[in-house]
Amino acid sequence: MEKIKSLAKSILYYSRYYHLISFWHDLTHPEGKLIILAYHNISDESSHPFKLRPEISTQQLELQLEILKKSYQVVSLEEGIKFLKRGKELKDKLAAITFDDSYESFYTFAFPLLKKYNFPATVFLPTDFINSQRIFWWDELHQVIAYAVPSGESASVLIPVIGEKLAKQFNEAEKDFKRREQFLESLEFYLKNIEEGLRQEKIERLKELLLTEHNVKLAKLRNLDWNQIAEMSREGISFGSHTCSHLNLKFASLEKAREELTKSKEIIEEKIKARVISFAYPFEADFETHLRVGPILINLKYECACAGWMGVNLSNFDPFFLRRMTLPMSTWKLLIVRELLLC
Ligand SMILES: [Zn+2]
Repeated sequence: MEKIKSLAKSILYYSRYYHLISFWHDLTHPEGKLIILAYHNISDESSHPFKLRPEISTQQLELQLEILKKSYQVVSLEEGIKFLKRGKELKDKLAAITFDDSYESFYTFAFPLLKKYNFPATVFLPTDFINSQRIFWWDELHQVIAYAVPSGESASVLIPVIGEKLAKQFNEAEKDFKRREQFLESLEFYLKNIEEGLRQEKIERLKELLLTEHNVKLAKLRNLDWNQIAEMSREGISFGSHTCSHLNLKFASLEKAREELTKSKEIIEEKIKARVISFAYPFEADFETHLRVGPILINLKYECACAGWMGVNLSNFDPFFLRRMTLPMSTWKLLIVRELLLC
């Protein structure tokens, strides 16, 4: 049953079903919509050749901002929601910009670009990572797989850790960089959907199995610090919660969820001296998680939450289940314009 569900979800996702919903909505409800763009890490292409996975380059981001400037009214997430609630007054197409996680690259590369275009943005912070060199597990995993030393026996030793299918996939991908990337994607998906403690155990085991003593020098991560956050807050960047430890709330008890949602909000509010009203679920929230965690968010006076699902927000939206989208990471303008035209 789970397999069928996930297959159906993939088909809908890859067929860009939300374009169809959005198109139908335009015909029947011409009162507007809000697109929320989601970004993570950003790099100046020359600075991170390979070790930490950059999600978008400065050049690609700037092109997207340029295109948005021409065809969208770029508003803060909070404003966008207010506009959308009012519905009928809405004339422009609205876009809000959001960044997840605590990458210092936001301060170094994205913030200057946003200032240049005079665009607001919201950054969702996992507070445990601020002022630290703590690395996200997927960035660590990326390095482990990048540095993995091929050996004929890899598949058999990996089976107890990641299962037969993934182990086989790794074996086939060992010498081929492109296939290693595909393998990494599958491995991330697998690890994202298991419980926190078990995941960490598996990553530690992968390190033992795949890295030799000579090549173990995993890069640390540069996270934002509170001074940078306070400075950006004064200059119009909003900050929201992304929990404290970036945990998957799907597997968290209600007590744990409440604890992290309370603490992260309090810490950010204390540091930036402003209210925190937005939240983004780490990974993604399914409906069940939304139903479990939603009341806690309301109770703690959050006003919106990004759920991690792709799509646009129409007038019948639920502010605690906001949909976001990503634009193609490309310097090919037409590709980005096409995506925006369709949504
Ligand atoms: Zn995140």
